[in-house]
Parts: sequence; C-alpha cells; structure tokens
Amino acid sequence: MFEKLESRALIQYTIKTKSDLHIGGHGTTAPAEVDSPVLKNDRDLPIIPGSSLKGVLRTEMERLLKGLNIDTCAVPDVCKSKKRKVGSECPVCMLFGGAELAGSVRIKDATANSKKTVIRDGVAIERKTRKAKGGAKYDIEAVPYGTEFYGEAVIENPDISGNKNAKLGAFLSLIEFFNYCSGGIGHATSRGFGQVSIEIDNFRLITAGDYLAGNYEGKIYPCSEPEFEKVKEQAITSWSAYLGSIKGNV
Ligand SMILES: [Zn+2]
Repeated sequence: MFEKLESRALIQYTIKTKSDLHIGGHGTTAPAEVDSPVLKNDRDLPIIPGSSLKGVLRTEMERLLKGLNIDTCAVPDVCKSKKRKVGSECPVCMLFGGAELAGSVRIKDATANSKKTVIRDGVAIERKTRKAKGGAKYDIEAVPYGTEFYGEAVIENPDISGNKNAKLGAFLSLIEFFNYCSGGIGHATSRGFGQVSIEIDNFRLITAGDYLAGNYEGKIYPCSEPEFEKVKEQAITSWSAYLGSIKGNV
C-alpha cells in the first residue's frame, strides 16, 4: 500500500500517569513475584505497548466518527470485503489499519523513566463464572502516579488527497480528545487505574524532497515554538476539511 513515500511525520510524546497504571504481560525473565506483573522491556523498565495505545485511539476515533455520522467499519475485516474497493477503506482503517490493510499510523512502545512499581491488592476472578473467587488473595503490580513514558509515533504520507497533513491533524486532535474525554488505558480503568495524559513533545516532518536535498532529519517542530501550534492548527483544519468532503458519501 505504501510503495510510494511522499512524506512522513514523526511524533514524540510523553504519557504521564495520573493514577496507578497496569498493563500486564508475561515477558519478564525474573520469576514472577506477583500474580499479575506489569509488562517490562529487557532493561526492566515498564512499557506501554504501541498496540495498546493504538487500540485505545482507534476506539476513540470510531466513536468520534460515528458521532459525526461518518460511516466506519465496526469490524476491520469489513474494509477488505467486496463492499469497499481498495483505497476506499474507512477513515479509521486508513489511519490504524485493518485485517489485511497497513494503516498509516505506527506507534512504538513507550518506555517508563523509572523502574519503580507498586503492589496493589487485586480481586481474583473465577474464569468460568466471571465472579470473584472467595477469599483468594491476588497481587497486582502497577506503575505509580507520576511516572512518565516516552514514545514515538510515525505517520506515513500524512496528506490525504490534497488535504495537507490531514492524518497528522487526525492524530493530534485525537490525542486532545483522549485527554479531555477519556484518558484511560490498560487494566481496570473503571476502578480508577490507568488514568494518563498524553503530551506531544514535538513532531518532525520529512518529505521525499528533503531526502533528495540530503536533509534526512526534515523539519522539527518543538511544542514550545509558535510554529508548532500553527502547523498543528493547519493540520487539524485539513483533517476537518477531509471529513467534511467524505461526510455522507463514504
Ligand atoms: Zn474500516
């Protein structure tokens, strides 16, 4: 799908925990000291897998577009069925991919700035009945409040048919929406776990022209500079214009 690379946006972000966060995994090499350890990398630092963040953002985008009466698939498989032609996938699959479709957005694992974790009491759930096991003790490891995770996302060809940086606009506005409306990720968000905020530190735009000119770094926009807001607003306007153009005829 992306044989042709016209441009690329690289986005660096920080996820700050505002409560305990638990994203479980079995990737630890040490013998498990708790029933439910958090996912860590080979340096023993907790991570937020890119796939977790992507899943959360995808769901948010689906809800948003449904609210705007823009047709999206509930099941990504639909986008590769005969119902839709190649290249006319729904905006959600265009961004985040489908069953046989490469999405434009790739999110790498975000790594914590600290190895510190805490142990909380959990409730053991009987698999069959989905009810709490009577009296069973269950420890859950969590990343505490105030931890920062650093991550990066890549958006291939951020323009959409003449709407400059529209996919970047989709991503940046989605992050804002997530921060205001949901802010939850990982396990047991209904019990107050997993409250986070995502801050964009900078984005970088690289075009094929930059490559030709030997400028492999492209142009960087740190969040502290006025140009960041300017390009961000333009990108979000582009995304809105694109959504306006497909409304009612997807
Ligand atoms: Zn779709």
